[in-house]
Amino acid sequence: MDIVADELIEARWVLPVQPWQVIEHGAVAVRNGRIVAIGTAAELAPRVAASRVTRLPEHALMPGLINAHAHAGMTLLRGYADDLTLMRWLQESVWPAEARWVAPDFVRDGTRLACAEMLRGGVTTFSDMYFFPDAAIAAAQRAGIRMVAGLVLLEFATAYARDAAAYLHQGLAARDRWAGASNLHFTLAPHAPYTVSDDTFTQVATYAAQLDLRVHIHVHETRDEIEQGLAQNAERPLARLRRLGLLGPELIGVHAVHLADAEIALLAEHGAALVHCPVSNLKLGSGVARFADWLAAGIPVGLGSDSVVSNNRHDLFAEMRMAALLAKGVSGDASVVPARQALHAATLGGATALGLGAETGSLEPGKAADLLAVDLGGADSRPLYDPVSQLVYVAGREQVSDVWVAGERRVTGGCLQTDDAAELIALATDWQLRIAADRPSPDNQRGRTRS
Ligand SMILES: [Zn+2]
Repeated sequence: MDIVADELIEARWVLPVQPWQVIEHGAVAVRNGRIVAIGTAAELAPRVAASRVTRLPEHALMPGLINAHAHAGMTLLRGYADDLTLMRWLQESVWPAEARWVAPDFVRDGTRLACAEMLRGGVTTFSDMYFFPDAAIAAAQRAGIRMVAGLVLLEFATAYARDAAAYLHQGLAARDRWAGASNLHFTLAPHAPYTVSDDTFTQVATYAAQLDLRVHIHVHETRDEIEQGLAQNAERPLARLRRLGLLGPELIGVHAVHLADAEIALLAEHGAALVHCPVSNLKLGSGVARFADWLAAGIPVGLGSDSVVSNNRHDLFAEMRMAALLAKGVSGDASVVPARQALHAATLGGATALGLGAETGSLEPGKAADLLAVDLGGADSRPLYDPVSQLVYVAGREQVSDVWVAGERRVTGGCLQTDDAAELIALATDWQLRIAADRPSPDNQRGRTRS
């Protein structure tokens, strides 16, 4: 035996994602939170001295899913504002509710609920953009999920900060406070072209370069946003970001529903990444992003849930399936975005987009042991000719049985290990009663809209 491991995990199918293959009767050895070996169980079992052996005879073992765009702190508003256009949704519902409720305890409890939902559904990394990052980070650390904390910037005042300079200052102070924390990464997160000024974007570009941070931003989400950009700046938002020095490998553009051919080529040429949020884009009526064209252009692409106010799930199995089906539907070509590409976007594509491609997103020796096992043993998953097809077109998050983040077990036999379901329900219900009791009437909502 030449390999010492804390845990050897054997599974019916192992999908490393990189390199692309399906290992029948495979195994992964984990030590000190990292993958130390991967291969067939027959190869590894005689070579690995493991403190613990886990056998998953009916399961697919794969990299943990990456939710590349979320606003976890908004989870207490799940279902609060359905069936509204993006601008009405923001102006008449989301922003007034946030003005009333957003505070550290709201963000902490919402993020706690989101982390439980994501881990239980096989998400091991999420990229966040929200107020009070200290509260969100504290919740994610407690849950034991990998987090990319987006330090949000806007021009207007909220309970969190009074102006763009204060957002930047407080965000960077939070980053300093959490320096050295495990499973934690940061981005700068200017909210969107329509909420951030040229001066602030220029500062973001400077800090991103100095601190080696990526820039996570909503961009080209709706036609209105582009028309507003043309009216105010005589240029499309992406052209404006380019002029302000933000079009480069550090850019993580979210939604990007409306992109011209030349803009896709430009993003690819500059090494920028995109995040596809198919369910949120549909629910807000924003349209269908050109996911297949992005992939064909070679752009690193991840998948995101966005907030559960516009989704209403943090469910990467749902996003993966929707991304594949939509691409086929809008192109009229069933061969576009095969299951393998959708699975790649939900794992290594997302990790690469976030700048974490060397840390997570695939099962390779040296990477963090961020893993999930999906139980494909039930009759609903049979017959089973191809486990990849089954994972994308059949499986749901309820089939996730076991989850590890950096080698630590977070879900065992379908049960979350780091939080208590009854406590979470009580917490969410308490907030729901308070928020519902205070909900303004539609007339009042207009009166409370931020101008
Ligand atoms: Zn968003």
